[in-house]
Amino acid sequence: MSDRLPGFSTLAVHAGAQPDPTTGARATPIYQTTSFVFNDADHAASLFGLQAFGNIYTRIGNPTNAVLEERVAALEGGTAALAVASGHAAQVVVLQQLLQPGDEFIAARKLYGGSINQFSHAFKSFGWNVVWADSDDIASFERAVTPRTKAIFIESIANPGGSITDIEAISTVARKAGVPLIVDNTLASPYLIRPIDHGADIVVHSLTKFLGGHGNSLGGIIVDAGTFDWSTGGKYPMLSEPRPEYHGIRLQETFGNFAFAIACRVLGLRDLGPALSPFNAFMILTGIETLPLRMQKHCDNAKAVAEFLAGHPAVASVSYAGLASDKYNQLARKYAPKGAGAVFTFSLKGGYDAGVSLVSKLQLFSHLANVGDTRSLVIHPASTTHSQLDDAAKVKSGAGPDVVRLSIGIEDKEDLIADLEQALSV
Ligand SMILES: *Cc1c(COP(=O)(O)O)cnc(C)c1O
Repeated sequence: MSDRLPGFSTLAVHAGAQPDPTTGARATPIYQTTSFVFNDADHAASLFGLQAFGNIYTRIGNPTNAVLEERVAALEGGTAALAVASGHAAQVVVLQQLLQPGDEFIAARKLYGGSINQFSHAFKSFGWNVVWADSDDIASFERAVTPRTKAIFIESIANPGGSITDIEAISTVARKAGVPLIVDNTLASPYLIRPIDHGADIVVHSLTKFLGGHGNSLGGIIVDAGTFDWSTGGKYPMLSEPRPEYHGIRLQETFGNFAFAIACRVLGLRDLGPALSPFNAFMILTGIETLPLRMQKHCDNAKAVAEFLAGHPAVASVSYAGLASDKYNQLARKYAPKGAGAVFTFSLKGGYDAGVSLVSKLQLFSHLANVGDTRSLVIHPASTTHSQLDDAAKVKSGAGPDVVRLSIGIEDKEDLIADLEQALSV
């Protein structure tokens, strides 16, 4: 064996997986079972008391899901991960470990529309209060910190406009405030950006998007960077205080630099219940094997399409950080040198009506509410994903009435450009 550390593409294919010890199967099997037989009564008791690692019940863990968890933890450079049923489930499980009713977290205003909804309404009903900040104004995060702040939440490449967030600057604010930085890395994937390298303490993903990559399976994942000290100031009792449901053990003391991933599993997933189906874990694992190839093609195509649109007379502006003229280009060069992702927006001189008309004329692009598929996708956020926001909030979150969002797939770029060309011609 050489002592070379495996590179990203090797990890994407191999991390976490071994030939199946019973059958020799090379692809990771789908362990389609709800439960697992104990060796004996002592074994069962030690599993339930968290004294031994092992399989109990698929709501808490499953061997197919475990391969996915180990693989994404390796790709992100974290200590451990927990797979769950969707990206939104990942966000609930993470914040449940950090916030008590009445607590606050700070979130960047430029976010996936579903996250804006989840934070503003569902989380409010749990007594978790979101305080919005502007990722283009780092001081707005500092100003938002109060004694009740328990976390900061940002996207690395932000929806819908594909802007690049200055993760290091916001991580400095989080450090000073003594709270963890959570980065939703869905639109970048670890192929483009590894937030932990830039100071993130927790990374979340919708696996539904680029990691799964084929628009066929929902999933979410939480990656623990292992960097945060949960014992400071009694702020995080779920991690630092004795847990009555596990004979009074303290998770940080017992599990050290993967205590957060354990808390998410044994307190979050176990009790809230959003388990990932092993079948979906298998589909997503298969997708991840080609992540580096797909992601590069997504980015190269996106850049070509953005350049075409920037030169088109019907287009008012293009918001793609990969364009040299873009206001996020400097940050893109720093954080995402391989490419600025494949989700971006542009605005049409013809406004709302032109957006609606474009969407209806496109043939190769599918009009739907998703991103990160092999297929190219289009949506008009103002009338769909961001329709619940008032006009000012739409504009602030990058989803004004004239804005169209694209998620560029891995087809031939010439075909994508030809489709846009015919749909833009009057
Ligand atoms: C899709 C998405 C989510 C939510 O993920 P689901 O798997 O749909 O629950 C969260 N964040 C971002 C950036 C997304 O694109």
